[in-house]
Amino acid sequence: MTPQTGPDSVVAALATSARAALGAAGVALADIAAAGLSSPGPLDHRTGVILTTQNIAGFVDAHVPIAARLAADLGGLPVFLDRDTVMAAIGEGTIGAAKGARDFVYITVSTGVGGAIVSGGRMVRGATNTAGELGHFPVGFDRDVRCRCGSYGCVEAYAAGRNLAEAYGVADASIVYAKAAAGDARATLLIGRAEAALANLAVGIVNALNPERIVVGGSVAEHEPAHVLEPMRRAIAERAFKVPAAAVSVVPSALGADVSIVGAALAARDRAGGKGQWFL
Ligand SMILES: [Zn+2]
Repeated sequence: MTPQTGPDSVVAALATSARAALGAAGVALADIAAAGLSSPGPLDHRTGVILTTQNIAGFVDAHVPIAARLAADLGGLPVFLDRDTVMAAIGEGTIGAAKGARDFVYITVSTGVGGAIVSGGRMVRGATNTAGELGHFPVGFDRDVRCRCGSYGCVEAYAAGRNLAEAYGVADASIVYAKAAAGDARATLLIGRAEAALANLAVGIVNALNPERIVVGGSVAEHEPAHVLEPMRRAIAERAFKVPAAAVSVVPSALGADVSIVGAALAARDRAGGKGQWFL
């Protein structure tokens, strides 16, 4: 669990966790070249500063220099920070489901919905490093479907596990899927809207970006592929532009629940070795 008592305790918990992992692996800190740190954004991956995150106390608009702070706690070990979904895309692009692809999109459908875009062999960063936040692509006109970002009608507001659970009034989205499978009308309506939101996002991605692969990860996608990947595939086949539709495949994450952690390790290795230009 992430401590909710401010940056000091988060840095301390990260350092403790890193030392425990080294101990379990029987590796000395002195033998490690670098560490990767995966975090929600917005953040600055070059300076290692988390600008703000909504869900961790003490990080809202705080500009926390987390990489430098953690590096100091780990005896000067270089620490490389990036957004969790960017780390996931680095992992999938390097050794996973998008290996060899120069144009792909990573999407996570989990507690929230997020993503990262690789175009022409480069990570798309945008002017302020928030490019790829696909969960906040607006797909609905209903102002009552509010999103945490302050807008309405975002993909996340319909399709994220947390939003589905809240809309139905239960603790976990898996209950909503189970209710829908059992024929419950309200659960079926909510799941149908989630599918429609993901379908619209998929068609928009294909038409706007022309990727060769869309890699879909996250716990909801992993457990409910028939309600996540399938509606995306059907929508692309039915109504995306024909040429890009024929060029794209929608595939599950190859790295599973650890995708961002694996990606962070690969990102740290490549940045420390000067090979990270494609994603920086
Ligand atoms: Zn939003």
